Amino acid sequence: ASEQRQKQVTLSDVLEKACDAYKKHLKSSHKAVDYLKGRGLSGDIAKQFGLGYAPEGWRSLASVFPNYDDPLLAESGLVIASVDEGSGEEKRYDRFRDRVMFPIRNVKGECIGFGGRVLGEGTPKYLNSPETPVFHKGRELYGLFEARHALREHGYVLVTEGYMDVVALAQLGFPNAVATLGTACTPDHVQKLFRFTDSVVFSFDGDAAGRRAARKALDGALPYASDVRSVKFLFLPPEHDPDSYIRAFGKDAFARYVSEATPLSRFMIEAARDGCDLNTAEGRAHLASNARPLWSQLPEGALKRQLLGEIAELVQLNSRELSEVWNGPAKAGK
Ligand code: ATP
Ligand code: MN
Ligand code: MN
Ligand code: MN
Repeated sequence: ASEQRQKQVTLSDVLEKACDAYKKHLKSSHKAVDYLKGRGLSGDIAKQFGLGYAPEGWRSLASVFPNYDDPLLAESGLVIASVDEGSGEEKRYDRFRDRVMFPIRNVKGECIGFGGRVLGEGTPKYLNSPETPVFHKGRELYGLFEARHALREHGYVLVTEGYMDVVALAQLGFPNAVATLGTACTPDHVQKLFRFTDSVVFSFDGDAAGRRAARKALDGALPYASDVRSVKFLFLPPEHDPDSYIRAFGKDAFARYVSEATPLSRFMIEAARDGCDLNTAEGRAHLASNARPLWSQLPEGALKRQLLGEIAELVQLNSRELSEVWNGPAKAGK
């Protein structure tokens, strides 16, 4: 375990050094600065998030890491080591080339990985660090370290899909935003967020992918939706994400979406009801069947009890009958 800890410290050092180098490169790259300016970002906000630029060369990092073959560089994900099939020779080169770099920090503030965006069109649009001993996408959230104080001040966290959403929201008045790292929002993410705040507002893109992400986030959030916590879902117009929306319509318009966000209870029932014709017994039965795996994940408490009643009413049963449908008849004497 202590060996593991020592290794992690070293990996983080390597990543921090690269982060510094990327920041320096950004200062001297007109096209990267122009790209960020073109997206409306100020120099201040770029500095605050430590944005950088990975130059075009295949081995740019060699200038900061004299021992480019150090296995730690490959382990950090900054360098790709691949074996050439023909010659059997190992080739090493920088993973991130000609990209705007978003450093990802853990809650202690240590750099644990990067997201890199192409300047303009190109694929893949984003390249993320691979999973490493210090970087686990299913657990980390982009911007959480930067947002930590704002979460307490604002009293809630905005969970978005993208790096640009976090940075744009911070610049335009919502420094309390974080993003999942190109993965679904997991129960681990939700649990981590509730260590910093008791109110989570999911704000995914308005497109179909964003709706699917919201549905997955619902699954992740249900076990943590206790009576003293709040979980809400905000749905932007289909053509927008938080970044594009707040740039187009401003802070107040986005704030209105936040204040009108859908509570988890309503979203859960809508999800269960989706595609069910409540005018037929079959449709109502289908709703009951859809609702069961969602409802059963809720922690015991007043919210869970109330929702049992609400679902029962929708399917034209009483709470006891619905419980029996789900769990079998209550045992005699109980
Ligand atoms: P931008 O505004 O810069 O175009 P975005 O954040 O709006 O980017 P989306 O297409 O909405 O981009 O994707 C949301 C998030 O999913 C991205 O921020 C990134 O973390 C991740 N992502 C998107 N495309 C890729 C990809 N090709 N590979 C890995 N992750 C990706
Ligand atoms: Mn999207
Ligand atoms: Mn976007
Ligand atoms: Mn987006």
